[in-house]
Amino acid sequence: QTTLKSNSKDPYPDWKPGEPVPYAALCTTFSLIEMTTKRLIIAAHCSLFLRQVLRLTPDDLLPTVLLMINKLAADYAGIELGIGESLIMKAIGEATGRSLAVIKQDQKEIGDLGLVAVKSRSNQPTMYKPKPLTVRGIHKSLLNIAVMQGNGAQTRKVDGIKKLLSAADSGGGKVDLAKDKGGPSEAKFIVRFLEGKLRLGLAEKTVLVSLAQAMVCHETESKGRDKVPSTDQLAKGEQVLKAVYSELPSYDVIIPAMLQHGIFNLRDNCKLQPGVPLKPMLAKPTKAITEVLDRFEGQTFTCEYKYDGERAQIHYVSKDSETKYQSSVPAAAKGTAGGLAAIFSRNSEDLSKKYPDILEKLGTWVKPETKSFVLDCETVAWDTVEKKVLPFQQLMTRKKKDVKTEDVKVKVCVFAFDLLFLNGEAVVEKPLRERRSLLHTAFTPVEGEFAFATSMNGQEIDDIQTFLDESVKASCEGLMVKMLDGVESGYEPSKRSRNWLKIKKDYLAGIGDSLDLVVLGAYHGKGKRTSVYGAFLLACYNPSTERYETVCNIGTGFSEEVLETLHAQLSDTVIDRPKPFYEHSKVNAHQPDVWFEPRYVWEVRTADLTLSPKYRAGYKEGIAGDAEKGVSLRFPRFIKIRDDKKVDEATSSRQIAEMYRRQESVSKGPAADDDF
Ligand code: ATP
Repeated sequence: QTTLKSNSKDPYPDWKPGEPVPYAALCTTFSLIEMTTKRLIIAAHCSLFLRQVLRLTPDDLLPTVLLMINKLAADYAGIELGIGESLIMKAIGEATGRSLAVIKQDQKEIGDLGLVAVKSRSNQPTMYKPKPLTVRGIHKSLLNIAVMQGNGAQTRKVDGIKKLLSAADSGGGKVDLAKDKGGPSEAKFIVRFLEGKLRLGLAEKTVLVSLAQAMVCHETESKGRDKVPSTDQLAKGEQVLKAVYSELPSYDVIIPAMLQHGIFNLRDNCKLQPGVPLKPMLAKPTKAITEVLDRFEGQTFTCEYKYDGERAQIHYVSKDSETKYQSSVPAAAKGTAGGLAAIFSRNSEDLSKKYPDILEKLGTWVKPETKSFVLDCETVAWDTVEKKVLPFQQLMTRKKKDVKTEDVKVKVCVFAFDLLFLNGEAVVEKPLRERRSLLHTAFTPVEGEFAFATSMNGQEIDDIQTFLDESVKASCEGLMVKMLDGVESGYEPSKRSRNWLKIKKDYLAGIGDSLDLVVLGAYHGKGKRTSVYGAFLLACYNPSTERYETVCNIGTGFSEEVLETLHAQLSDTVIDRPKPFYEHSKVNAHQPDVWFEPRYVWEVRTADLTLSPKYRAGYKEGIAGDAEKGVSLRFPRFIKIRDDKKVDEATSSRQIAEMYRRQESVSKGPAADDDF
């Protein structure tokens, strides 16, 4: 619980009740957060500020929370700034009357564009005092910049950023860049927002918890000035908000409802609804059937084929279903089968324009009595002649946007494995056995269009082995094994849960899974590879520090054609020096010839994991004792580009550390706890 002293001196005398939240106030909080690494203090600053917003200007709660989590809208709205380092440098130069060459030189020396902005602003004589920036104003301007498209969009974006930077405060005259990290400068935080990394150590989860605390404190306080909430009330508020957010991850919907009904009534007013995609449940890797049997000992489980396609969440409401759901389905949703439907990816991107063929055929497999649903499934390339699934590579050849049904060459079939919402009711809390039975009654399989995931409920090792062999013959990746009954078999949105395990055919003898890694740098090719990059530096992501930790160099698994594609893609993202949030070993490792913005995720396979002073993955997870060693991949091999994963969804440092521990425990002794 935070301690806002009511008699403490008001640091923002200009911020009056009902008036827009000054952006300077938010930047001061950011700066306080930046000066500490203690999680409780970070959360306290965050919730203190949100309480103040609730007290004075609750109308600004939504833009404040969004700016805190470095977002402009919910993920599914598809609004992204997509502004690279060069545009930002141009805008800083133009806004502060400094040449691009000078800005570039500063960036080379300082290595942090936010601080370059601070330095540039503080060198600039201020002729007049600009109108103070507000949180809602910044949010609106950034949103306008993000949606600019078409002719001259780049120039208009730079103009928009310039305007913001000209009005921004540099943080109060001369600042010691090294000592105070640039202070509460508005310019610094605007630039960092544009870069997509505030670098405060303020995780999204912390903002959610702080918001719950602020709301509970505010509601208690409104019953009497000196009233304080109990620990139980605080815990309950947190639990409610977390549960609601996992089913309905949209602050745009939750915050207005919370302000209207209060946090303790939120569960009744905010529920999973078609149109708002939720983060899917994920699985933990295993490397032997016996590991699966150990995990589920004494409980019933079920095995399903693990199809190798693209995860999809299909949302649908019929025309005659409740109007409240109709309005929540995004505008892009297609009118189909007498209703509205949309398809979302595993990271909540709208895929409706990629799969118009699925949406058009919905009517053939949705039963007329099925009025609304949210379906969890995999879209898989389908061979219409042989009538069987095709490898993932075929699916990748499909266009990603503005697909016209008549031009579709690679047909897809939907393989449904879970149901999250049916006929106006969320079913996520029901046991899997029940959800599966509802799934089977709501839809009709149609060959090559829609099928239920092939499943088997046998509990013996031989049954599972035979089923695994069959899945491989049917061109699947292996099996998914899921808890079938009881509360633990409920659908857990956004969680990598031990109630879902995956067994991949290729990894039974290896580390259990492939890794999804971010490309940070590259080495120029030699010999046959002179015109392209010959090898790359890859990293995993650490969500608690918001840093990318290097894990290996890779030069195997690329065809010449792929290397050319990668060269073309990556050339657009070259930067002069590593980002300050890249964690790489400077002493023991080769430095790549070029560095990139963190934009691409690649799936990589490895023989096994080892510890190395050259890399940094998981080096803070205590695997190497005090030694400065990270986990690294032995004999890494490129498999494919993972377009469906964002860089912050790459394999995490903790996951890698855990894989390393499991590998060690298998080779040395008893199995480790698999809950990471
Ligand atoms: P992977 O690279 O193995 O797909 P991932 O991180 O994308 O890993 P995981 O949760 O680890 O996701 O593995 C489950 C993935 O397998 C799902 O995201 C989904 O796309 C796919 N899948 C295929 N068949 C099934 C099934 N029957 N049940 C659940 N997921 C399935």
